[in-house]
Amino acid sequence: MINQNRLWERLQLLSKIGTTAEGGITRLSFSEEERKAKNLVSAFMEEAGLSVREDEAGNLIGRKEGTNLDAPVVLMGSHVDSVFNGGNFDGPLGVLAAVEVLQTLNEQDIQTEHPIEAIAFTDEEGARFSFGMIGSRALAGTVTQEELKNKDSNGVTIAEAMAAQGLKPDEIGKAARKPKDIKAYIELHIEQGKILEQENLSVGIVTGMAGPLWLKFIVEGEAGHAGTTPMRIRRDSLTAAARIMVAIEEEAAKTGTTVGTVGQLKLFPGGINIIPGRVEFSLDLRDIDEHVRNQVEQYIRERAEEICENQNVILTIEELQRIAPVPCAQMIQDAAGEACRKSGVQAFSLSSGAGHDGMQFSDLCPIGMLFVRSKDGVSHDPAEWSSKEDCADGANVLCHTVLSLAVQKVDVPN
Ligand SMILES: [Zn+2]
Repeated sequence: MINQNRLWERLQLLSKIGTTAEGGITRLSFSEEERKAKNLVSAFMEEAGLSVREDEAGNLIGRKEGTNLDAPVVLMGSHVDSVFNGGNFDGPLGVLAAVEVLQTLNEQDIQTEHPIEAIAFTDEEGARFSFGMIGSRALAGTVTQEELKNKDSNGVTIAEAMAAQGLKPDEIGKAARKPKDIKAYIELHIEQGKILEQENLSVGIVTGMAGPLWLKFIVEGEAGHAGTTPMRIRRDSLTAAARIMVAIEEEAAKTGTTVGTVGQLKLFPGGINIIPGRVEFSLDLRDIDEHVRNQVEQYIRERAEEICENQNVILTIEELQRIAPVPCAQMIQDAAGEACRKSGVQAFSLSSGAGHDGMQFSDLCPIGMLFVRSKDGVSHDPAEWSSKEDCADGANVLCHTVLSLAVQKVDVPN
């Protein structure tokens, strides 16, 4: 029912803002590029017949009123900021699909009981300040003045960058919404993975967002001469670390849902002819089920202790970050399943390994997400791509889901 040509054309127009020499897009938060992108989206929102405003965090909001003036709002959103040299679909698809849905409803004179808003959140990616999701945190009322002191690589704080864009960081608290004012939040996003491609499906219903647990492993043995130290008396921190990494892989793989990644590794002293005396490595462990993730963590810790004991080296594990996974509301997954049927799309469920703005709303309202197939699973790269037809399928499923959540007042032609 949505206009797929219009959605596609708008994606192309937005892709021209912040282009890089490498063929990608860089639109950092509170930059001129992000401002231009928001101005363009704001113009699309006006065309869609929405009432447009920006809140104190710089979130751009287009609203369609409901027939019941006291009913809580249904939110759709995503972001228009990007990583350095990113792609054209991560974020923009969700924002432009939300606008397209509301424009379609207005054109077809479809009324809903609940009001509906399309939101372009400020700074989802966190590429500039290594922080991220500033807009959605502000909407959830969780962002603090202390957090606005995070600096970019030029030493500019979030608060200063906001002020430079005419925003008032002291008043960011006013962007907060109350649970009673929001019925649900739903976001359409590219999958950033290969599951839908492998299943040969255009759209997926997200069951939950995995929460990352970040640990730092420090293994201390004894450095020594590679030529003069017999194998039997060595305290090699790297061979112990290697065994721990294998244990991580095995424990994560056992569950079928957990993913564990060692992405950073440092050896000391790091000489070709020296036994490593100290090794540091990271672990990123995720699952959408917190209990399963914590159980895997426990097994890894136990096996790591055992390995280090056997090899006579000392193990220290530091916790860097522990974020709880966020389940998607069953009510929204059910509505999305029905919306798939109405859109002629096969309903298929999958989890999200990546975090998104909706994670910030776990205490605010029921959240849901829809994924659109990503070519080769690529994202955060100029090669990021989803087809016009897949984007349209996603927007149609979003439309029917939102109509169900916002309680449609008339029959819709499918
Ligand atoms: Zn994104």
